[in-house]
Amino acid sequence: MNLSAIPGFHGIRAGRAFALLAACFVLTFGAMVTLLVLDQQRVLEATGHLQEQTVPEIIRYQRLARNLEQLRQEGERVFSAHTPQSRQQAMFVVMLVASHPSVLEHPESAALARETERFLNDVMYRSATDSKAFVTYHEEWQRLAARLSVQVDDVSIQGINLANGDLNEVAATMGLARYKVAAALGLVGLFLLLFLVLLRKHLIEPLQRIDRALSTLSVEQPSPTFQPSAMREIHAVEEAIGELHASLVQNEKARVALEELANNDGLTRLTNRRHFMLLADAELLRAQRYERPVTVGMADLDHFKNLNDGYGHAAGDIVLCALAQLMRDTFRQSDMIGRYGGEEFAFLFPETSLVEAHVLAERLRVRAAGYNIELPDGRTVRVSMSIGLADASTGSLEMALNRADDALYEAKRQGRNRVVQAPVGEQRLLADDL
Ligand code: GH3
Ligand code: MG
Ligand code: MG
Repeated sequence: MNLSAIPGFHGIRAGRAFALLAACFVLTFGAMVTLLVLDQQRVLEATGHLQEQTVPEIIRYQRLARNLEQLRQEGERVFSAHTPQSRQQAMFVVMLVASHPSVLEHPESAALARETERFLNDVMYRSATDSKAFVTYHEEWQRLAARLSVQVDDVSIQGINLANGDLNEVAATMGLARYKVAAALGLVGLFLLLFLVLLRKHLIEPLQRIDRALSTLSVEQPSPTFQPSAMREIHAVEEAIGELHASLVQNEKARVALEELANNDGLTRLTNRRHFMLLADAELLRAQRYERPVTVGMADLDHFKNLNDGYGHAAGDIVLCALAQLMRDTFRQSDMIGRYGGEEFAFLFPETSLVEAHVLAERLRVRAAGYNIELPDGRTVRVSMSIGLADASTGSLEMALNRADDALYEAKRQGRNRVVQAPVGEQRLLADDL
């Protein structure tokens, strides 16, 4: 069940959710324990009742059964006695037993005892006149003796039943308690399972997703998406990750924009002098380490001041931009172009000898000289450029650019709109001086 899909449900605090679960557990478990305590109480009461009331009752029944049995035996002795004295004796015991309190307090047995006493008295009385009285009434006595035996059995069974009642109640309560213990244990297991499932679904798995999202969070990747969590804290962290990603993207955009501003020239979008020097220096080091050919160049627009004066500074700017684009179109992707000063440009040609660079520079010069640059007012202007080149396979970048600048100066001196190479021997000479 996805709780967060319920309209108007804004999540629950994890602490509260688990406290609620714990409270439910404690309440249910407490209820089970209370029921067990009540059962134990019932067992105690039943055993107490057994000890205090049932056991004395059983003893009374046993005593009654013994007395009734004795009554039957003494009656038997009345009939089987050989002398009048022993018959009188037996009769005396019959009277004693029949009036015993244990017999009198049990109405059914008291009635039977009275009947037995009366019958035996009656037979004794008749025997005074009738010598065959004991023979005549013997059969009737046997029926009475049998009833006494049955009464003895009944009384014994009643006693046993009394005990059975209590014992059955104890056994039933204990049997029920066993089921309740099993149910309580099952409930504990069920709660633990539920707790673990909820813990896993609403805390562990979301935390793992958050961990994965954080470890892969980057501006190159889209913002991580989460299924809205039912736990408010988790939801807050997931939202914070989204916000963090948004701010990372914003920072990256700002960083790129700043880098662009810091490294590029605002007018021509060419690499500015500072950044050109950094990039060119790294490239020069690489080329010199691997002993690869590398050439640098300096270019300066011819009589640019005149153009500015004649067409205006804005037109001069347009020309600078157009020529920057021409340079980008003419040179290769790997060649470096930088705006070195006002209308001065610096180049670095990796993997290019002085002779090969001369071909490239010459191509640029020719294209520039023949380029009709259109101004916003419809007029077109042309501007030529002078270029100086120098081999940079030895020595520092500054030295190489100085020599290229000297060559550029030489190109100006020779009449402009041309490419001049710095003499190689001079470079060796300078490098040797170092
Ligand atoms: P030369 O052939 O000897 O180089 O002649 P030049 O007129 O080009 O001489 P110089 O190098 O002294 O003049 C450079 C001019 O370039 C001066 C300046 O007005 C102009 N300039 C420099 N930077 C800019 C810029 O950003 N925009 C415009 N429009 N002009 C610039
Ligand atoms: Mg100049
Ligand atoms: Mg110039």
